[in-house]
Amino acid sequence: MFARRVVHKVTLGGFQVHGAFGDLMVGRVKQVSIVSIGNEVLSGHTVDTNAAHIERQLRLIGVPTVSSHTVADLQPAIVRALKLAAEDADIVIVTGGLGPTDDDLTREGFAEFLGVELELREDLLVRIREMFQRRGVPMVRKNASQARVPKGTDVVPNEWGTAPGIVAEKDGKVFFALPGVPREMERMLAASVLPRLQAWAPSQAMAVRKLRCCGAGESTIAEMIGDAMRRDRNPLVNCTAHSGVITLEIVATTDAAGEAERLAERQETALREILGPLVYGVGEETLAEVVGRQLQRLGKTLALAESCTGGLLAKLVTDVPGASRYFTRGWVTYSNDAKTEELGVPPELIARHGAVSEQVAEAMARGARARAGADYAIGITGIAGPDGATDQKPLGLVFICADFEGQARTRREVFPWERGYVRLHAAQTALDILRRGMDR
Ligand code: ATP
Ligand code: MG
Repeated sequence: MFARRVVHKVTLGGFQVHGAFGDLMVGRVKQVSIVSIGNEVLSGHTVDTNAAHIERQLRLIGVPTVSSHTVADLQPAIVRALKLAAEDADIVIVTGGLGPTDDDLTREGFAEFLGVELELREDLLVRIREMFQRRGVPMVRKNASQARVPKGTDVVPNEWGTAPGIVAEKDGKVFFALPGVPREMERMLAASVLPRLQAWAPSQAMAVRKLRCCGAGESTIAEMIGDAMRRDRNPLVNCTAHSGVITLEIVATTDAAGEAERLAERQETALREILGPLVYGVGEETLAEVVGRQLQRLGKTLALAESCTGGLLAKLVTDVPGASRYFTRGWVTYSNDAKTEELGVPPELIARHGAVSEQVAEAMARGARARAGADYAIGITGIAGPDGATDQKPLGLVFICADFEGQARTRREVFPWERGYVRLHAAQTALDILRRGMDR
């Protein structure tokens, strides 16, 4: 009985580019599966930063990660994970469980998996002893276990800790075992593992591009791009949604250097043609950065009048260095009185339509623009919840008005989620209205 968690990512194979993006055979590329060993990782107590680091480093040398297995400190679990990982990929990278304590069982698991005994390597023992001497710490007997490696395997040198790594081959697959301690693992990966993989697959390359989109939901975007998201294509297009931004990640993998960039670029062009103005940026760009650049380019200034977002929009705008060039001021007018006193929203308007209304959002934007002497202004009013909904006005109802030099554009949105999401989506939507409005 053992606990096992498997996070299957993507399976690439000898894949084909097809569909709307042409037909091009791409040879088989070498792939990696990661095995993270440790109860603390399995329980989530320790976040698996090792797997994330390895995946990122492998991308840089053009080697895709196809799966990640997380297992407990139990020998049968480790053996099974090694088998599964070897089914998934050509190269298996294991981290954790190389320490000297009884719950460190990677060496034993490897030996069983390879069908060999563990042998004490005198040279390793000497090195570990020297390491303790240099540190001026007595070496306890348990540390000697770290000098034991499966017979017939090689060692990945560890100059940063006591546990040597292991490199083994079985049935044409290559296995690396590295310590769990991130700083040791990262250095050993860079010094010994990545150079070997690079030598093994010298022309393999990956190109990754991110398209950031706003203004439509994940499923709408997925529907628009049709078979681009099929899992058997190259490039792969992965889709994630976060705070109102949909990210399309294009991952092209090839066994010919130069080809990956070309494939990714072609895919990017095709997606941009379909999505048009829904794409606001690339890479790690935020909406606020893009809006800031637009404002600067046009030489326009911005003022903000916020109610339900409580200053969040001003926070996003001022997260961008240099925002003072275009952002002049903002108001958080939470009460009706504040809306009237600070922004000149007529009390009758609030009485007639309610504070959460198109009319009040417009009056807020108009007031902010006039009082700040700005070119553009935003007014936001809504019901962030959990209370405050009525029959006519549901939870998450938000009115956002952008006043472009006297021309108002108002949007009614319902974000049927928890308070934090409502506020974030409202602020992001306001930025998107600005972005699109300025593009006129
Ligand atoms: P050592 O040989 O130095 O004793 P080890 O190979 O036995 O290391 P573990 O005992 O499993 O490694 O873990 C050592 C430390 O590394 C712990 O603090 C653990 O939380 C951390 N660690 C282990 N695995 C991971 C992981 N996948 N991601 C991030 N941290 C990890
Ligand atoms: Mg451990």
